[in-house]
Amino acid sequence: MSQWVGNLGSLHQYRNVPYVERAMDGTVACLLCGTGWMNPNARVMHFHGRQHSKNYNRIKEIELKQERERERLKKLEELETRAILCFTYYDPRIAALGLKAWRDIVTVGLYHYLRGGELADADLLMNKYEKMESLSLLELAILKSKAVDGVMFQSTYEIRQQQALDPNFNATAYLRDQRVISGCHVIVPSVAAFL
Ligand SMILES: [Zn+2]
Repeated sequence: MSQWVGNLGSLHQYRNVPYVERAMDGTVACLLCGTGWMNPNARVMHFHGRQHSKNYNRIKEIELKQERERERLKKLEELETRAILCFTYYDPRIAALGLKAWRDIVTVGLYHYLRGGELADADLLMNKYEKMESLSLLELAILKSKAVDGVMFQSTYEIRQQQALDPNFNATAYLRDQRVISGCHVIVPSVAAFL
């Protein structure tokens, strides 16, 4: 700042200074300080003087504050845009994920985005778990249709009940066997290729 106040020496240098007015006869006036028209001697004294520096510094300080405020508002606006996107577009999709661990991972990804990170990272996680979600639902549907075939069991509740009634019956082992028989370990990866 003081550097270019000090540089205001020759008349040529006042040309692009917004607060300096030039008259045809070569005299100048400082609009910042409200001086009258100044001849070369008065001009040099004024622009190197303490009063001018003080006024100039004050203006610069106000400009700096305004600039900081603009930056602060810009950041807030950016944050708001990111928050709206998270709340309206991603939150409902996160809520639809079946596993808490998946919901947590995507939520953490979105927090990073909210703090200035890349949306692509969070979006990648979102799509990954949505895909896994649809595959696991498909797998469950196939498994269920096989395990609850209406012959041995009418519902998954009956499978659990059978374990309580028959000490030789292991529901977990039964479901594992049904999973292999149902072929969903073959079907699901084939379907995954199309997703
Ligand atoms: Zn001045």
